[in-house]
Amino acid sequence: MPETRYDVVVIGSGPGGYVCAIRCAQLGLKTACVERYPTRGGTCLNVGCIPSKALLESSERYHDALHGLEAHGVTSSSVSFDLDAMMQRKRAIVDQLTGGVATLLARNKIDSITGRGRLVSDGASHAVAVVAEDGSERRITADAVVIATGSKPTPLRGVDFDGDRIVDSTGALSFSEVPEHLVLIGAGVIGLELGSVWRRLGARVTVLEYLDRVLPGIDGEIAKQAKKVLARQGLEFSLGARVTGARVDGDAVTVTWLDAAGGEHAVVGDRVLCAVGRRPYTDGLGCVEAGVALDERGRIEVDGSFQTTAPGIFAIGDVIRGAMLAHKAEDEGIAVAEILAGGAGHVNYDAVPSIVYTHPEIAAVGRTEEELKAAGVPYTAGRFRYAANGRAMALGETDGLVKILAHAETDRVLGCHIIGARAGDLIAEAALAIELGASAEDVARSCHAHPTLAEVLREAALDVAKRAIHKA
Ligand code: FAD
Ligand code: NAD
Repeated sequence: MPETRYDVVVIGSGPGGYVCAIRCAQLGLKTACVERYPTRGGTCLNVGCIPSKALLESSERYHDALHGLEAHGVTSSSVSFDLDAMMQRKRAIVDQLTGGVATLLARNKIDSITGRGRLVSDGASHAVAVVAEDGSERRITADAVVIATGSKPTPLRGVDFDGDRIVDSTGALSFSEVPEHLVLIGAGVIGLELGSVWRRLGARVTVLEYLDRVLPGIDGEIAKQAKKVLARQGLEFSLGARVTGARVDGDAVTVTWLDAAGGEHAVVGDRVLCAVGRRPYTDGLGCVEAGVALDERGRIEVDGSFQTTAPGIFAIGDVIRGAMLAHKAEDEGIAVAEILAGGAGHVNYDAVPSIVYTHPEIAAVGRTEEELKAAGVPYTAGRFRYAANGRAMALGETDGLVKILAHAETDRVLGCHIIGARAGDLIAEAALAIELGASAEDVARSCHAHPTLAEVLREAALDVAKRAIHKA
């Protein structure tokens, strides 16, 4: 096959890669997007954000029908669920979205190439060798290459994934039956989201976490509250637990761990989900040969313009530094496309929200109290609880808190941390406030519709100046 030449070749079709390719095409660049798997959309659409949210929603509906309706005066004689139907619904959503991305790429006249991409040093222009499933190889060249190859689960020594009893997140999204006793290694985002799914469907869930807290990175006060609420829902936590191994014996898996004092413990379950983080995925990419340097954690090093140590080769998303989030990857994809087209791309990392889709949801943007203290930044905190909000009462969702952190001298919003129903939607307002450099007073002076949960955020902004209206 003759060599094909492009302005830009993007390797990877996750939220970073496909969004970058589309923006490149919109800006008039001849673009190809290489993806090793037959479906488009990467981790996020295939085995990440989307299937996990589909199962979180289905399991929450079931749990709510079982436990949440009586308070509303709604009774039903029997509630049951069909796991196959839930999984089928999840698959249908994934198929629709991954198919949608393929259509978007085609409509934007992007050459969507299936095969494994590898960087090939080739003088002035850049070449990517693409190896198809059948072993055939073709070469494409471009003025610029964007690496968007994402991440993979971090393995844990002594805990070998077998795809059945000991699984990563992909396995835990597809159990064919509800585990009797699911042991989670890691109380991070994946552990708490997928632990919630299987707990709601009836599994006993034990969480083993190395640190003395859950959700590292989330504001300490909110994380503490999250642990309390999730423990009330039946998740059993052992903190300060360093897992040393997992052994399968028939249908049982024994997980061994050490406590902080070195005491040995074991817990036996029938399934284990190991979710101790994700690592950048650069296997077989040929980074070293192409002069693309990795840092000490295996992430591709980039400068402020997302350029790697090899001129003309860029990288975005999970494979570089920063939070492993789909929207962060997307924004970097757009920024790099604009840079490649001669514009000025930029991502404001202070305004990237993150959300944990447990119930209630946990959402954050900007700096935590711990970070502000460590940096010596003077701040004032405004807090308001869902319990005093009319809409929260009507929803039966009074368990929640919004905390706004503003600079003590300028009143500029520096961070917002929420635990409560629909926190993931509420956080958008705080992200916009940070992006626009708003003060807590700006947020407080904006009219918020009544009765809405957004009023909690406004009251928290008022509370920064200790003038919340509905606080006794
Ligand atoms: P990816 O989505 O990982 O895409 C990389 C693509 O590159 C893959 O399709 C891969 O096959 C392809 N690839 C790799 N190497 C090659 C090669 N050599 N040649 C060709 N193709 C290659 N984030 C959120 O923001 N919200 C959530 O709710 C959320 N939920 C998650 C739930 C789970 C269970 C998991 C695992 C992750 C979740 N994430 C969530 C994280 C999110 O999925 C990632 O941050 C996001 O997908 C990163 O996008 P990316 O484009 O950098 O990489
Ligand atoms: P994580 O970093 O969120 O949590 C991993 C946890 O495992 C940490 O609390 C860590 O202390 C613990 N741990 C590490 N080694 C351990 C050991 N030996 N024994 C016990 N505990 C141990 O990682 P994750 O949950 O695997 O998720 C990976 C990434 O995927 C996240 O960083 C996040 O960016 C992304 N993700 C995002 C969402 C979302 O946005 N809603 C959902 C899922 C995943």
